[in-house]
Amino acid sequence: MTTRTTNNTAREVADLLKTLDRVAVTTHVGADGDAIGASAALVRLMHYLGAEAVFCHQEAVPTYLEWLLPDEALRALPADHDLLVLDTSRADRAGVPVPQAGVRLNLDHHEDNPLYADYNLLDPQAAASAEIVASLYSELGVPIDKSAAEALYVGIRTDTGGFNFRNISPRAHELVADLLRAGVVPAEVSERINRRGSIEQLRIVGVSLANAVRYGEVLISTVENADYERTGATELDSKESIDQLRTVAGIDVVAHLREVPEGTKGSLRSETVDVGEIARRFGGGGHRLAAGYTTPRRPREAREELLEILKTTSTSVDLGGER
Ligand code: AMP
Ligand code: MN
Ligand code: MN
Repeated sequence: MTTRTTNNTAREVADLLKTLDRVAVTTHVGADGDAIGASAALVRLMHYLGAEAVFCHQEAVPTYLEWLLPDEALRALPADHDLLVLDTSRADRAGVPVPQAGVRLNLDHHEDNPLYADYNLLDPQAAASAEIVASLYSELGVPIDKSAAEALYVGIRTDTGGFNFRNISPRAHELVADLLRAGVVPAEVSERINRRGSIEQLRIVGVSLANAVRYGEVLISTVENADYERTGATELDSKESIDQLRTVAGIDVVAHLREVPEGTKGSLRSETVDVGEIARRFGGGGHRLAAGYTTPRRPREAREELLEILKTTSTSVDLGGER
C-alpha cells in the first residue's frame, strides 16, 4: 500500500473521483449519523459521475439511518472496487478489512487521522465528514438533490449534537441553509432519526443516569451486562444517555463506560479538556472534545483506571477531594 503523509486538496480529490469507475464506500465500525450520511452522499455523487458505487460494511447499518442509503449495503468488500473510507480516524477501524491494494481515499475530520490512504482529504475544522463531501459536490459542480441534501444534513446535525457543539462554524451553517433550500425539512429528518427509540432503550438510559457518580468536575456512568439483562437493552442503547449526563452544572468531563464482550467501551465528552489525548492513552482516539476507547477491564475497574489517568492529563481536572 502506498501511503502519503500529505493531505490533498478538494480539487485533487475531485479529479481523482472523476477517474474511478467502480468504488466501494465504507465508514468506521459503530457507524453514526455522519458515517452513514457522508457515505450515502458520496455514493450518490459517484453515481452522478457515472461510476458504479456501493456501500459496504460488515456490521448492519443502524435501522434509523437505513433510509439514507440509495441501495442495500453489502456486508463485504466486492472484488475490483476502489475502497473509499469515510469518517474513520484509523484504517483498522474501517467497516471492512482493508485489502492488499490499500485505501484509495481517506476522507475525514478527526485531527488524529494519520493519512493512511493514497489520497487523503482531512479537514479537522469541518463539523462533520459530510461537510467535506459537500465540498466535493461543489468542486465538481454537481447539484445536491434532496436525497443527498438529507444525507449531508443528518451528518452535520448528528455530529454537532443538533448544532450545539464547538465544532459548528458559520461555514457549516451556510451549508445547512443550502441543504434546506435543496429540500431538507428538519422536522421530517428529526422524526426519522430521533423518534426511533424503544422502551428498552429508555430504561437503560434511566439506569445509566442513575449509575452516574460525580468526582469534582468529572461525571462517570457505568453500565454492566446485568443492566442489559434486566432492561432488555443493548450496550449501544445505553450510550444514548451521554448527552443527558452532560447537562449537570459544573461538570467538565463526562465518561460513559459500558460493558462489552472485550471489556469496557469508554465514551468521553468535554467542553474544555482534550479527551482525545486521554482516549489515545488507552489505544483509542477521536476528537479533542469527543473521543472513545476500549479497555479489557470491567466497568467499575475501568472507572478507577480512568480516574488515575485523569490525574495526569495536561489540562488539570478537578476530581474533588472526597475520593
Ligand atoms: P463515541 O464515544 O464512540 O461516540 O466516539 C467518539 C469519537 O471518538 C468518535 O469520533 C469516534 O470515531 C472516536 N472513537 C471512539 N472509539 C475509538 C477508538 N477505539 N479508537 C479511535 N477512535 C475512537
Ligand atoms: Mn463518526
Ligand atoms: Mn464525523
